[in-house]
Amino acid sequence: MPEGPSLVIFREAVSSFTGKKILEARGNAKISMERLQGQKIRDIRTWGKQLFICLQKTTIRVHFLLFGSCSIGEQTKPARSLRLGLIFSKGAIYFYSCSVKLTEGSIDTLYDWEADVMSDKWNPARARKKLKLKPQTKVCDALLDQEIFSGVGNIIKNEVLYRTRIHPDSLVGKVPPARLTAMIREARNYSFDFLQWKKAFVLKKHWLVHTKKICQRCEFPVIKKYCGSTRRRTFYCDNCQVKYK
Ligand SMILES: [Zn+2]
Repeated sequence: MPEGPSLVIFREAVSSFTGKKILEARGNAKISMERLQGQKIRDIRTWGKQLFICLQKTTIRVHFLLFGSCSIGEQTKPARSLRLGLIFSKGAIYFYSCSVKLTEGSIDTLYDWEADVMSDKWNPARARKKLKLKPQTKVCDALLDQEIFSGVGNIIKNEVLYRTRIHPDSLVGKVPPARLTAMIREARNYSFDFLQWKKAFVLKKHWLVHTKKICQRCEFPVIKKYCGSTRRRTFYCDNCQVKYK
């Protein structure tokens, strides 16, 4: 599943379609394709792992789920996986195996933009307030909570916890305030590092713990476990990441 920074890269890649008119819409998403035809794109935005194509009369919301993907210019996957294709006089955008829905009303008010770690409106103090309400939640689950850290995915979670030396099974309410501040700060910092490295095709090279075998700080074996209620693949070092509970 693409994490927030990957969506930002895609958004930048399709930003040139802003202002362009949709000549044809096709695909097997359960939305009215006719309704999209003839409408111009007003704006293209991301909120966490969701992409919004704002049209004159409605907004297309795309969520990539586990196996979603997209292509620009040419259709690269078979028709059965094509959820939505938007054809313009010059160029096209295709979405495959995604969730595609239409959203009515202003997305400014529908979504909490202060929760998006990639947004200019990101508000770390609000993230902290939301964490305070969940003292019994494990940090590995809290970082994946899209209402608190929209855009953070599994890789970012693993790297942030390693950077800040917090064990994934730590309870939010037991993590010392300074460590919690570091975790919130790095959720955004690492997301921007991820963005730069991904653009330069060197993201994997910079992983410190994700998919690694040996801790590069203390040379202990890296543990791989499906942690928390989210049961996502977690890599961590039992020796230098402190468990607060
Ligand atoms: Zn270690």
